[in-house]
Amino acid sequence: MGEFELIARHFTRSPRRRDRVALGVGDDCALLVPAPGQQLAVSTDMLLEGRHFLSTVPPERLGHKALAVNLSDLAACGAEPLAFTLALALPRADASFLAPFAQGLFELADAHGIDLVGGDTTAGPLAICITVLGQVPPGQALLRSGARAGDEVWVSGALGDARLALEAFRGRVALEGDGLEVARRAMERPEPRVGLGLALRGVASAAIDLSDGLAGDLGHVLAASGVGARLDVDALPRSVLLAGQPRELQLECLLAGGDDYELLFTAPVARRQAVLAAGAGAGVPLARVGTIEAEPGLRLVDRDGQALAARFAGFDHFAEDRR
Ligand code: ADP
Ligand code: MG
Repeated sequence: MGEFELIARHFTRSPRRRDRVALGVGDDCALLVPAPGQQLAVSTDMLLEGRHFLSTVPPERLGHKALAVNLSDLAACGAEPLAFTLALALPRADASFLAPFAQGLFELADAHGIDLVGGDTTAGPLAICITVLGQVPPGQALLRSGARAGDEVWVSGALGDARLALEAFRGRVALEGDGLEVARRAMERPEPRVGLGLALRGVASAAIDLSDGLAGDLGHVLAASGVGARLDVDALPRSVLLAGQPRELQLECLLAGGDDYELLFTAPVARRQAVLAAGAGAGVPLARVGTIEAEPGLRLVDRDGQALAARFAGFDHFAEDRR
């Protein structure tokens, strides 16, 4: 199978959204039709074998995840997905990999009503680079820089399971039966919170998606906004599986886990009902986990308001140790 046959067989479909895609795969450029007056939101994420995924991941889940992590960035901006491109480096043109990979990719694309409109294909060590394009009305994108002292800090879904799966694969944690599959699914098949991001337009003051671990990602919001935060680690939402692990491992997975692809956002106290309505409308559970404060820095406390022991106070350790 040559390069062009590979593209034709696995990655060329007639556009589903003719209203948005005037020309898809096959020419030198794709031609897109964003809604008049909207801003184009663009984001790229690259996945490398060994660094961003393990060789054990089923190809179908890899196709899903490669697009999911990109859609998660659009979600964090409150942008509506339009289309995406796919750059692929492949060790060999192997249909037993490509067919399920494309299936996982297109299932998620169809779920969000977006077309694959182009890309590039080359031989090389397995690497997947997707660029997503979205649209958002001017002034309505959710940014990292909008958090203000007094705002509340929220997160969607449950955190830490992807890191727990990684630790299981590394042999540090033993998960049995169902447990491994639950954690593994979180790691390999994240659901991007696109609907929630859209619902939070005009409600959230700042947002980010959790890809590198909550402590670090919240740190980006705090830095961009010029504020600090107090975080109640006992309020961090976690699965029953993670809640059954030793406390230190839980905190490590929750705060420094990475690969969560949940949204972290801030909103004024007065918008609490609107936040809850956005979560309910999007069908995503939300947890209120902390407060933005004027004093810079991240302060971790437990449910009684006690500061966490020194070893948990400085989460740079985990930031360094991420992968
Ligand atoms: P060019 O040489 O003009 O860059 P290519 O020969 O690389 O074009 O690609 C031919 C067409 O196939 C282009 O429309 C390109 O966008 C598309 N394409 C290439 N690789 C992929 C891929 N992995 N997924 C989707 N479309 C692709
Ligand atoms: Mg090319």
